[in-house]
Amino acid sequence: MPELPEVETIARGLAPELEGRRITGVVVRETRLRAPLAPDFAQRLVGRRLGRMGRTGKYLVTPLDDGHVWLVHLGMTGRLTLGGARRLALVHDHVELALDDRRTLVYHDPRRFGRLDVLAASEVARVVGPGVDALDATLTAGWLFARSRGRRTSAKALLMDQREIAGLGNIYVNELLFRAGVRPRRRAARLSRADCTRLVGAMRAVLDEAIARGGSSISDYRDGFDRAGSFQEEHVVYDRAGLPCRRCATAIRGVVITGRSSFYCPACQR
Ligand SMILES: [Zn+2]
Repeated sequence: MPELPEVETIARGLAPELEGRRITGVVVRETRLRAPLAPDFAQRLVGRRLGRMGRTGKYLVTPLDDGHVWLVHLGMTGRLTLGGARRLALVHDHVELALDDRRTLVYHDPRRFGRLDVLAASEVARVVGPGVDALDATLTAGWLFARSRGRRTSAKALLMDQREIAGLGNIYVNELLFRAGVRPRRRAARLSRADCTRLVGAMRAVLDEAIARGGSSISDYRDGFDRAGSFQEEHVVYDRAGLPCRRCATAIRGVVITGRSSFYCPACQR
């Protein structure tokens, strides 16, 4: 599932290619995504000029020249790929945008958990939600410490809660908890100020390194040019149950926490 580094990689790659391009046609082959595609989705995009694509949380956010905003969430298996003009549509190519430079931008999503919307700029915050972006400067150790007080949930569940912090998912939360030396099951309310400092530092470091490596390609993820990322090669705990910790050689443990696979080193994490 694409998380912040994967979505950021797509935005950084596509933004300079798409900025200023006009959408000359839209083909919709499937409207049954996580939220059904609006009946006037194509009509609201055709003829519009694209502004600079950016990212907030796990959403791709592209302003249009009529004041609306094109929003994309890739769900579990969504891909947005920029390609040449003449191509055969593949199964699961649900939406295709034709651009005025004869290239096409294709939304492909086998599991259809993604979401595509054209919204008024004032509606974006409602859809994206209240969570602070994981790379936002306002997400400090003090903020995390304050948000974790009195919380009965685990540290892992708090970090993955998109209403609190937007952009993190299972891969990067497992990895940053390892770097911060915090076990995923630790009660959020029991995090110390020092823990919060290490968690926020680890969050920035892991996300920055992952973006520099083009994200993690575990199964489906590809960037906007159909290229895989390579940060999965750097994973220390994620999906490594039973394998030796890269720091201390203790076997990594795999457990299920609130329905999600969780991985930690019992020696490096407390
Ligand atoms: Zn270890």
